[in-house]
Amino acid sequence: WKHAPGHFRALLEMSRFHGDKVFLTYEDEHITYEEHFRRAATLARRLVEDYGVVKGDRVAIAMRNYPEWVVAFSATLAAGAVAVPLNAWWTAQELEFGLSDSGAKVLIADGERAARLGGLAQSLIVARGEAPEGARSFEDVLGAVEADVTLPTVELSPEDPATIFYTSGTTGRPKGALGSHRNLGQSPMTVAYGLLRSVVRAGKDPAESAGQRRVTLLTVPLFHVTGCFAVMTTTMFTGGGLVLMYKWDAGRALELIEREKVTTFSGVPTNVWQLLSHPGLDKHDISSLNSLGYGGAPAPPKLLERITELLPSRSPSNGYGMTETTALTINNGGVDYLAKPDSIGLPMPVVEVKIADPLGDELPAGEVGELCLRGPNVILGYWNRPEATAETFIGGWLHTGDLARVDEEGFVFIVDRAKDMVIRGGENVYCAEVEAALFEHPAVDDVAVIGIPHDELGEEVGAVVRLAAPASAEELQAFLRERIAAFKIPVRFWVRETELPRNPGGKILKTHLRKEVLGS
Ligand code: ATP
Ligand code: MG
Repeated sequence: WKHAPGHFRALLEMSRFHGDKVFLTYEDEHITYEEHFRRAATLARRLVEDYGVVKGDRVAIAMRNYPEWVVAFSATLAAGAVAVPLNAWWTAQELEFGLSDSGAKVLIADGERAARLGGLAQSLIVARGEAPEGARSFEDVLGAVEADVTLPTVELSPEDPATIFYTSGTTGRPKGALGSHRNLGQSPMTVAYGLLRSVVRAGKDPAESAGQRRVTLLTVPLFHVTGCFAVMTTTMFTGGGLVLMYKWDAGRALELIEREKVTTFSGVPTNVWQLLSHPGLDKHDISSLNSLGYGGAPAPPKLLERITELLPSRSPSNGYGMTETTALTINNGGVDYLAKPDSIGLPMPVVEVKIADPLGDELPAGEVGELCLRGPNVILGYWNRPEATAETFIGGWLHTGDLARVDEEGFVFIVDRAKDMVIRGGENVYCAEVEAALFEHPAVDDVAVIGIPHDELGEEVGAVVRLAAPASAEELQAFLRERIAAFKIPVRFWVRETELPRNPGGKILKTHLRKEVLGS
């Protein structure tokens, strides 16, 4: 592998063959594959020549979903450096943590993030906004983009680090997931497997379903693996178009689907909920849309029902993935999804699944244990966190922290996050199960089930709900009594007037909620 160009470099060079086709659309800007390649290759050269970036150096990116994000990411990897996408929602303090934890040599930020960070300037490149004193603007660094620019020379092997993505921080402090070029190169194939499988299982020939250009609306941030890998690099691989949004907005999404003839909607379940409940849904021509892909957070079966009712003939699919698995790894789509709407589906062909007991031994089909994964999409480990790495990556298996079961046909069902589970007097209550049951109630718009500390039982079950119509706690309890065992039924309900707090990955921030309602 001494002279191998590295997977991402190969992907970037290959993407040039798509030439004049539009790759990135942002507002009224359209950037072709050729333009993107030239800009990325030029920036890669500038990083090497002006900033002294060498193989393995970290380059952080702190931006909203601007085209420059994609250029910065491509350039960093093409230079042989490790891209460190930082969460654009982070405060100054959190951004500083990301910069120091990763030891970034250069930061490429948008004006908003640059202003948030104050001070540091020498190694700061600013796109879309004022560059503070001493820093340089993105366009200035790029300078004149030559037509015959080539990538700088660097030797990379597939095992070399390519990215550090921070986990969403749902269960604790975010950890830097160190991904390799091999991991990254695998992701478009993983997505392709999922699509092909849905087509084949629907009894169709994938070769015949070609013909329409795939244009994807990216509704989630590029700084998480779903946006970057399941969507952006996969789009680059196929030569499709990618429509970027500064931030998620259901009404704007409908306008963009109509205007850009979007074929593929890609996001988190909440995005789809909001799209379906938007008053503009039937006022826009969204006939180009043929598939709705979502994942990253639990998708209640009620969502599938709504899609089937309001947007029939759009093929929905639910994908399971983690930062540690370079996005998508298990997926449910097409006829399988209709048959088993509460499953996350079948593992991708390259991924091995094991349901393990606390000792790591495999449990038989049907039993609930920790979901463990192995495959070419599983990252190298956590950056700078040897203990967390040793706890999570055991004997080649990634321990996901998710409780799951697998049925006789190999379909995976997520039961709960191990850390979310409420233990009530020694009985395990899976919050996800109670949430799913509550979702079935027509008045329930959103719900989060949490544990309430209890002297005698250890914990009791509580629920925070957002209601579309009035419903009393007694009514909800009576509804649940028909569906789940008595010990799982919340003893306390809190009604929230506003939306439940979620992170950009669509996950409910239960730690915030617990603080809000319990004060701890
Ligand atoms: P942290 O690890 O920092 O606490 P996080 O686990 O939320 O945060 P991510 O890597 O973004 O960070 O999310 C992975 C998790 O998201 C999985 O472990 C799983 O709990 C959840 N998840 C992802 N996809 C799905 C899905 N389709 N259905 C249910 N849960 C999902
Ligand atoms: Mg996690």
